[in-house]
This record gives sequence, C-alpha cells and structure tokens, in this order.
Amino acid sequence: MAKNKSIEAWKQECPLIQSIINYDEVFWENDAYTEVNRVIGSLPLGLNDVLEAEERLKRFAPYIAEVFPATNKNGGIIESPLEQIPSMKRELENIYQTPIEGKMLLKADNRLPISGSVKARGGIYEVLKRAEDLAIAAGIINHSDDYRKFASNDFKEFFSNYSVVCGSTGNLGLSIGIMSAMIGFKVTIHMSEDAKQWKKDLLRSKGVVVVEHADDYSKAVEEGRKESLADPNSYFIDDENSITLFLGYAVAAIRLKEQLNEQGITVNGDHPLFVYLPCGVGGGPGGITFGLKLVFGDYVHCFFAEPTHSPCMLLGLMTKEHDQISVRDFGLDNKTEADGLAVGRASGFVGKVINELISGVYTVSDDQLFVLLSALADQEGMKLEPSAVAGIIGPVGLCKNQHHYLSKTNVISIMKNATHIAWSTGGNMVPDEVWQSYYERGKRKYQEFGIDSVNKN
Ligand SMILES: *Cc1c(COP(=O)(O)O)cnc(C)c1O
Repeated sequence: MAKNKSIEAWKQECPLIQSIINYDEVFWENDAYTEVNRVIGSLPLGLNDVLEAEERLKRFAPYIAEVFPATNKNGGIIESPLEQIPSMKRELENIYQTPIEGKMLLKADNRLPISGSVKARGGIYEVLKRAEDLAIAAGIINHSDDYRKFASNDFKEFFSNYSVVCGSTGNLGLSIGIMSAMIGFKVTIHMSEDAKQWKKDLLRSKGVVVVEHADDYSKAVEEGRKESLADPNSYFIDDENSITLFLGYAVAAIRLKEQLNEQGITVNGDHPLFVYLPCGVGGGPGGITFGLKLVFGDYVHCFFAEPTHSPCMLLGLMTKEHDQISVRDFGLDNKTEADGLAVGRASGFVGKVINELISGVYTVSDDQLFVLLSALADQEGMKLEPSAVAGIIGPVGLCKNQHHYLSKTNVISIMKNATHIAWSTGGNMVPDEVWQSYYERGKRKYQEFGIDSVNKN
C-alpha cells in the first residue's frame, strides 16, 4: 500500500509507475504544467522575497570576501561560472545517437567557492540570515553597518552562545557546518552512517560535531529536529520545509540572467531556455526553478533529474501525494552512489510550489551517471561528483524522437535557437583519490557494455 492505495491501483492511474518500480530510466512530462502568469499569483512567495535574499547576500559580501579569500575576486558574492561544453555535447550526440538542437552549457556549481556544491547557495544563506537576525535582535548590527563586523572576536563570542543543527546526506552539512563554524556558532550535523567518510572527516576537522545514525536520512533529520527543539538557543535548519533555504537557492536565477546577458545569450519567445537540475529533497532545484520562472517566465523550461533508485520528487508530483509517499512505498531501495540525491521522500513544501511550474522529471541509473562523469572529464576536463552529472543527459531525453513536450509548448521550430543548461551541482570538494575511483568506474562501464548497452535505456 502506498497512501491508501494499492500499488496496482497506482499503476492504473500512472502507468509509468511500473517502469519506475523496475528501476528503468523514465522521462515524465508534467501534465499539470501551466503558464507562469496563471500560477504565480497563488504562490506563497514572490519576486520580492528573492530580491530581499539577494540584498541580504550583498550586505554580507564584504564579510564573505574577508573570511573566505576565494570569494575575494568576486567581491564576496558566492557565484559559479557558466561554461560552454561543445565537446561534451558532441559526445552525448555520439553516445546516445541523438542530435541535440541548440547550444549546451554547464552551470558549474561544482566550482562554487566555500563548499563546492549547490548547497553553498541555500545552506550558507540560511546560516547568514540566522546570524543577522540574532545580531539585529541583540542591537549589535543594523543593515547599513559594515558587515565585516561579523568577523570580529566580539561577534564570534556572541554567536558561541547559539547553536545550529541540521540533518544531511552530506553537502548541506558541509555548507552549513563550514559557514556556521566561521560565524562562531556551535554546530551539530546529523548524518546517516553511510554518508561519505571524507565529508564527515572534513567537517570534524572544522570543529563541527558529526552525529552518525544507523538508520536512513529522514531518521537523521528527525533526531536533529528533536535535539534542537529542546534548546531555545538552538536553530534547526530543515531542508524539507525551509523557506529560507529555498530563497537562497532562488537567487541563482538573478545571477544566471546576468551571466547570460554577459555572454550575449538571448532568452525570449524565439530563444527557449531549458534547464536540467539534479533533485534530492527538492529545495535546491525547486528554489532555482522558482527563481527562473520569475525571471524568464514561460521562456524557461525546467526539468529535474533523479536517480532510478530515489525518484521521490517524481513519485510525489506524479501521484500528487508529495511528501505523503516515499520511494519505499513502491518497494524502491533508495540506494544510489549519487549521495546528494539519495532522498526517499521529497519536500512537500517544494512539491506544492513547483507543481505547475516544472516541465518534467527524468531518472538516471547509477551506471549512466558514472559514464557521464568520466565522459565529461575526458571531453571538458571537468570534475563533478555523481549527483552533479544527472542534469547532463537531460537534452538527450528531450530531443530524442521530438519529445511530445516540444510540440505541446510550440518550440519545435525554434529548437535550433535553444540554450540547454545542465546544472552541475557539486564536485570540487571530492578528494582526488575518491574522484579517480568514480572516473575509473565510468570508464569501465562504458567499455564493459559499450555504447549499445548505455544506449538501450
Ligand atoms: C543536495 C544536492 C542536490 C539536490 O538538492 P536538493 O535540495 O536536495 O534537491 C543535487 N546535487 C548535489 C551534489 C547535492 O548535494
């Protein structure tokens, strides 16, 4: 039973569920997709909320530049490059025997300073907002002050009375742990036992308390929440429900618009933009999608990518049960090397906000992720982690057989003007020897099975 309905009944309603249960790769088109103007007014958040988040990050920029020298050349604004990947595009066309119309770029959040993943957007933003809220309440800062004050010993002393807690499969913990430790907060990260060892080691080296849980991720989050609620000076960052995290991610859209402008890339009624975002619990890709729809309206089309073993957002959207069902309800094991995406139950808050904004969701097998990871290294010299490559294959699914979505949205005749952006969500923090083992696994898979087998999906 999955939420008062047998799996058989669900299959009747959503035939794709059989393939999902078989761990087959699927490409789901969202039939609830609606024009932005008919949706945006009824959402709980709007452009002003995103602009406010951007302003807050600007106030903190001088502080960030001071304490994280890697952000200095960008004035303390934590941002990643937008890069052309022509060789990888050719390789995709070759491997999957599918022409991809338009140009292809990579939004390289694997190179975001401080924590090397998309979590440097939401996670760092929420820690900074918490610090600002406390400092304002205590009367030690106001918006027009020089925020470099946050680097002073007095401030660190003040923040040492407060703690930050979160549950994480890895990268969120890294971002929140590193930022909180820098502010001076006491910080505890709850992780599942199978979280990557190097992530736990790195956090501990920064003075972060890492608590390991034998059960899965949701259990870790639950433990964290309980501990935090028992202490009034403790603040729990809840990646399933946090509006603050979501808005931190959404700021990416404003930055992307500037980068596209700088590179002379047009997005309008004749030049569609397709964005492919790896999805775990949904906050990162959901926040970015929300921001992109505010900025580009119907000219942008956002797709999420999930592992075949953890398609929680896909099942949540498809059944409209959102966080009321989990992948385990359908017998899926939630086991994937893509640890950033290994989430069995999606955020209900995010699912409801993006329900009509998201164009579709597709799934990718772990083998496929490793093949993409090594291909991207060979073609473009880029080092991503397995979760982060899930977006790269998006254009293949969409362009294959002139997908129905393209006719539904009337873009077939303008696809030659399209821009495809795969959002690369992490990689820079992966230790070399760990990354090398990913690379070799990808090469092995590719050679072992050859193009035909990768192709069969
Ligand atoms: C967290 C994460 C994601 C997805 O973000 P969610 O907010 O969990 O959906 C994607 N890629 C990487 C590398 C991540 O760490």
